[in-house]
Amino acid sequence: MPIGEREGVTKQTSRQDRPVPWPGRSPGATQWGIVSQPQARIVIIGGGPGGYEAALVAAQLGAAVTIIERDGLGGACVLTDCVPSKTLIATSGLMTALEGSAALGLQAGATRATVDAPRLYARVRALARAQSADVSARLCAEGVEVISGTARLAGPRTVSIGDREITADAVLVATGAQPRVLLGAEPDGDRVLTWRQLYDLQELPPQLIVVGSGVTGAEFAGAYQALGSQVTLVSSRQHVLPHEDTDAAVVMEEVFRRRGMTVLGRSRATEVRRTGSGVSVILQDGRTVRGSHCLLTVGMVPSTSGLGLTECGVTVDKHGFIPVDRVSRTSLPGVYAAGDCTGVLMLASVAAMQGRIAMWHALGEAVQPLRLSHVAATIFTEPEIATVGITEQDVESGEAEAVVVKLPLATNARAKMQGFRDGFIKLFARRSGGTVLGGVVVAPRASELILGVSLAVEQMLTVDQVAHTFAVYPSLSGSLTEAARRLMRPSSP
Ligand SMILES: Cc1cc2nc3c(=O)[nH]c(=O)nc-3n(C[C@H](O)[C@H](O)[C@H](O)COP(=O)(O)OP(=O)(O)OC[C@H]3O[C@@H](n4cnc5c(N)ncnc54)[C@H](O)[C@@H]3O)c2cc1C
Repeated sequence: MPIGEREGVTKQTSRQDRPVPWPGRSPGATQWGIVSQPQARIVIIGGGPGGYEAALVAAQLGAAVTIIERDGLGGACVLTDCVPSKTLIATSGLMTALEGSAALGLQAGATRATVDAPRLYARVRALARAQSADVSARLCAEGVEVISGTARLAGPRTVSIGDREITADAVLVATGAQPRVLLGAEPDGDRVLTWRQLYDLQELPPQLIVVGSGVTGAEFAGAYQALGSQVTLVSSRQHVLPHEDTDAAVVMEEVFRRRGMTVLGRSRATEVRRTGSGVSVILQDGRTVRGSHCLLTVGMVPSTSGLGLTECGVTVDKHGFIPVDRVSRTSLPGVYAAGDCTGVLMLASVAAMQGRIAMWHALGEAVQPLRLSHVAATIFTEPEIATVGITEQDVESGEAEAVVVKLPLATNARAKMQGFRDGFIKLFARRSGGTVLGGVVVAPRASELILGVSLAVEQMLTVDQVAHTFAVYPSLSGSLTEAARRLMRPSSP
């Protein structure tokens, strides 16, 4: 399994007991208001969520902050990955809703709604640019110096950009990651594509072959099927979403097939060839799948080469990731790293939190180390799959002593009114004491519903406390309190 994909990597080192390398503090930032030290200087390489959120925290604490970005503020997150894909999915979600509108009593129009691809892609690109401009304006307003260019470490606390060198009290590396390329399936930006090249197309791919059934593959396969492409999803594993909750993955695969997608399980792609008018994907067992376009979603590799890291003494692992501890320290004092380049958990929210934690730590603030067990994540398929806390695998392997309940949403009154039946709420609670340890929500807007479970996990609420919380009737969140009620135990006599 390649290190990469968003679901892939959870490797944490624990070096929290090392001495703090530089407890710098900026004027006015102490609780006593004593201006006794020179202003701290922070340099950040990379303007994605790992970098820009860190810059905002450091500026708020009074440091002089420089951020260097080569492509555009907001990073790949805003310009090519998270924001564009979720914008595309906003449109595909509407198409799915329209598909189901007749069942809800709407008179279907004479023709099915179709997608105006150039307009859709123009909207995606414009929204990404606007979001990047918002990030830029915010950094400017906070007094952060922004340099456009490619930076590298020139010394333990020195960063170079072209001829210029900046020495800092602390450096943050937040350079992100890029799509992994398979030998024999090199993208050409025309028919063989990474997700970063989709928005330059002039048309909706008529027959799209998606290689890779992890989070990114599943999101794009579902979206393009809804938009009107005929999608074939090539999965090397038995099921789609192999690293996710199995019940959720089964629901998603059923939905995909019902909507007309071809899902090829246990089918490893070995080569992608251009043909006259399209592409052929060659599978390991000799079969060939033909389509108009191929989208490769086979993981990510960290953007850490050429940064001068090892030359300066920053440890980089064999895959190119920068190992960090839970306060984002690398092996070199004064150098921190955050986000996808660390491979900790490839999510924007985690990148941002790692960046903030790095700055709180570097600037001598009290800091709560990163807690991966509390990270909420969503797969933006239709229905969405949102998770937080422990997993069913943790329970089955005995790693967590927990009880589990799963409530299908098909019996929820609100779900019936809205006309959907695919989905469930699953809750995990500690066997002794009933503390909520995690949950899975498969539902439309599960990304919003999961907050209730996240709050319970973060605040260590028990199922009794959740069960006694009012939920609106009728609502999907009513199934969450109902799940908690099912896990309540009678108090002992
Ligand atoms: C298709 C897709 C959808 C996603 N959807 C979601 C989602 O819905 N929710 C979620 O939480 N996460 C999502 N993610 C993950 C999320 O995009 C990443 O976790 C996030 O972008 C990581 O932020 P980062 O700051 O580490 O890196 P990036 O956002 O990649 O930013 C790094 C920046 O560093 C710059 N850089 C690199 N090297 C240098 C250098 N030498 N000098 C100057 N600048 C440099 C790059 O140009 C880049 O702009 C998605 C990912 C993909 C691929």
